[in-house]
Amino acid sequence: PFDVLVVGGGPAGASAAIYAARKGIRTGIVAERFGGQVNDTLSIENIIGTKATEGPQFVSSLEGHVADYPIEVMKSQRVSSIVRKEQVEVVLENGAVLKGKTVILSTGARYRQLNVPGEEAFKNKGVAYCPHCDGPIFKGKNVAVVGGGNSGVEAAIDLAGIVNHVTVLQHNDELKADQVLQERLHSLSNVTVLTNASTQKITGTDKVNGLTYLDRVTGEVHHIELEGVFVQIGLLPNTEFLQGTIDLNAHGEIIIDKHGATSMPGVFAAGDCTDTAYKQIIISMGTGATAALGAFDYMIRNIAP
Ligand code: FAD
Repeated sequence: PFDVLVVGGGPAGASAAIYAARKGIRTGIVAERFGGQVNDTLSIENIIGTKATEGPQFVSSLEGHVADYPIEVMKSQRVSSIVRKEQVEVVLENGAVLKGKTVILSTGARYRQLNVPGEEAFKNKGVAYCPHCDGPIFKGKNVAVVGGGNSGVEAAIDLAGIVNHVTVLQHNDELKADQVLQERLHSLSNVTVLTNASTQKITGTDKVNGLTYLDRVTGEVHHIELEGVFVQIGLLPNTEFLQGTIDLNAHGEIIIDKHGATSMPGVFAAGDCTDTAYKQIIISMGTGATAALGAFDYMIRNIAP
């Protein structure tokens, strides 16, 4: 068996595997798509110490760093369940079973998509999902935030300090964000809130130039000219396969303690799939390190050599 078997090969998984391997213990990574969400990112400017990089370039540097250690990397493999027996058994979709004395889950998350025309075509060309990541790209420009929950309203408040103007589009008749956030939003002079506004289409040529929405009360269709659209309708953790086996919170995030431990003995977790606050590369890498050190600590206390 592996001493540490990491499920997921994004920033959290790569960091966990390197920290584990540096302890001289048998380490593996099983991942559907090595690199994770970073594969879909263009410019990255907030990995501290690396002023600017691009997603694919960063994925290959992660891969190169992992390859410097004796880590067994199993790519294009999807995990369908985990079971606690004498060891932790990780069951793959193809039926194979991998065993770990400890397991680190780092299966990440995915942004919920609007699924309207233009969203896919203009990803990284004006369509964005992460205000902390891409806000500064839109300095002085006009943008929309689609979604009126906490994440949408937080994004709008954040962006209002950077961009020229923010239009918030909420599908329902009222914002769903906490009252204190709504009050802050309404105090800002460069924000417009549209309720009952159903986004129909994101328009553009080589990049975004506008957004079309349906006013659900009047039935009229309107077009707004702008340069960026932030989609803020939810971040879904990739944890469906853990339901009923590991404690998840109401958002489906894996509940971890300060050592990265989950509710299943010997199983740790890190990154966007967990209940850690804020989902960022640098945070995923930090929690990956924590989970690996937590797993190592667990082994020396609970598992005979
Ligand atoms: P992920 O990167 O999501 O990796 C999850 C891994 O688990 C993948 O290898 C995946 O294939 C695998 N996996 C999932 N389910 C299974 C399964 N059942 N079996 C096997 N493997 C599985 N953050 C920043 O800090 N700066 C940025 O500029 C930035 N820009 C972004 C731009 C975009 C478009 C997006 C989508 C995100 C951006 N982020 C950015 C967020 C950042 O990418 C994430 O916080 C980070 O990738 C999370 O790392 P992770 O390792 O936890 O998960």
